Amino acid sequence: MKWKRTHTCGELRASHVGETVVLTGWVNRQRDHGGLTFVDVRDRYGLTQVVAEAAASDLQRRLGELRGEYVIAVRGVVRRRPQEMINPNLGTGEIELLCDDLDVLARSNTPPFPIDSDREPSEELKFRFRYLELRRPSLQRNMLLRHKAVLAARRTLDALEFIEIETPLLIKTTPEGARDYVVPSRIYPGKFYALPQSPQIYKQVLMVSGFDRYFQIARCLRDEDLRADRQPEFTQIDLEMSFVTPEEVFAVTEATVAAMCEAVGHERPVTPFPRLTYDEAMARYGIDKPDVRFGLELEEVGAHFQGTTFNAFRAVLEAGGSIQLLRAPGGAGLSRKKIDGLTEAAKQAGGRGLAWCKIEPDGAASGGISRFLRAEEMQALQRGGAEPGDLLLFVADAPRTAREVCGAVRLALAEELQVQRAPGLHFAWVHRFPVFEPADTPTGWAPSHHMFTMPEPESRARIESDPGSVYGQLYDLVCNGVELGSGSVRIHDPALQRRIMRQIGLQEEEIERKFGFLLQALEYGAPPHGGIALGLDRLVMLLAGGTSLRDVIAFPKTQRAASPMDGSPSQISPEQLRELGLQLLPGVTEQDGVEER
Ligand code: ASP
Repeated sequence: MKWKRTHTCGELRASHVGETVVLTGWVNRQRDHGGLTFVDVRDRYGLTQVVAEAAASDLQRRLGELRGEYVIAVRGVVRRRPQEMINPNLGTGEIELLCDDLDVLARSNTPPFPIDSDREPSEELKFRFRYLELRRPSLQRNMLLRHKAVLAARRTLDALEFIEIETPLLIKTTPEGARDYVVPSRIYPGKFYALPQSPQIYKQVLMVSGFDRYFQIARCLRDEDLRADRQPEFTQIDLEMSFVTPEEVFAVTEATVAAMCEAVGHERPVTPFPRLTYDEAMARYGIDKPDVRFGLELEEVGAHFQGTTFNAFRAVLEAGGSIQLLRAPGGAGLSRKKIDGLTEAAKQAGGRGLAWCKIEPDGAASGGISRFLRAEEMQALQRGGAEPGDLLLFVADAPRTAREVCGAVRLALAEELQVQRAPGLHFAWVHRFPVFEPADTPTGWAPSHHMFTMPEPESRARIESDPGSVYGQLYDLVCNGVELGSGSVRIHDPALQRRIMRQIGLQEEEIERKFGFLLQALEYGAPPHGGIALGLDRLVMLLAGGTSLRDVIAFPKTQRAASPMDGSPSQISPEQLRELGLQLLPGVTEQDGVEER
């Protein structure tokens, strides 16, 4: 390089007029105006317009030869733009650089999509040329925002006496309900490491070691069939504390999240965040990650229908089920087609359908199940707030299903009615979850979060006899209807930990083989402890106002867990396989989607 850069492309202002400077960057755009060439140079700080004196014909020619994305250094004098050329939307919009010399540092092929346009390239191109997509100002902004948010988290936790400790990536297993990614060992052929689904077990062991406030910006890997907007590797702000109650974990988390919001220019959220128990969240919103930015709350109305002549309701009530009502103020205007759409949402959520009626201006019910509604039932609904112009939606099913289905319809209805959501980020805690949920395991139960959660003292006696009624010191942080993180107070008593493991169907041999080291550690003076992990990518996505995790992860994977940029996953050589003591089954080497490069 001939010169060192003196300023960035976002730096120069009217106060620099007259100074000789050197800028470096990428040619964002080059255009000809009546024989004069204008070049916008871009770096991650901004854009600066470069021109040359009309008479400087050689320089004009060289500027004219530049192409998009060439990397250049330009030297020149800062001058004020003519009044009519001032661009108030650009930080450097008051000035331009009158170039006296130019150095092309690297040429560029014509990029497969323009960097300075809002037009979205195809998915395929975006993944393959991620490094070019990352040049776009929106992604550059997101990466910077992520950095600032993480820095704020680190600073806050440091000030609260947390220390950052790295836990290993090559481990035995840390289950969080997904499949492990495994790594074959060369030194121990036939043996495998697992990649951590979270640092959970290690952070608990660190508590046994006496590091009473730990955190880590931790990479987690989960081999799941990818649902929309999940990534096989993602980052958590993982923390653990000894001698702690859920309230103390909440306070630390709130301080961290609030600092992150502030650091990236959001208003500091009001703390403490609202708290709802799981039962309350399910009863009011039909979901454990409620979007509390709007009302449309569910209502249990089974009691109104004790004498119903409507067979579908009667059958459900006789079987001990529940009838959930969702009242859509002003919803009577929704077309039949829209109501059918809501019915579809109910079915997709596992419901049998949706019963509905409208309330006419005279207060009478019409449409849907109106002809089955008796006068006293209508009166009860009206006492409960049903008004002319409303659409009433009913879900009748087993209690849990009814709530969940109604919760899904609530979200679909909010979309249909274009319900106003309160602006900004609305955090809330959902706590006191059931420890177990029904599952396809030998005992019929799986942990609802993970198996290390401390059951509440009064429900411990029912672990074996009535697992569904055992509640735990478990909590989720939610924001705008998105789950941001989960945590719990942990079991520090090895005997209790074994009981939970047996209850979810683990055999003694498996318990020892997989978790023997944790159980042993708990035998050596384990303090009571608890913690949480926040999904950093999701949080940054919300802070950035984005809708996709991909916008806040530098090198994300596709929906099929591949990276078209580098072509991973890819085959390994026969020698590598041999070294690892591995042989592939016939047929598995066939390529499926990811192109070898
Ligand atoms: N390890 C848990 C998870 O990844 C979080 C926690 O309980 O701290 O969900």
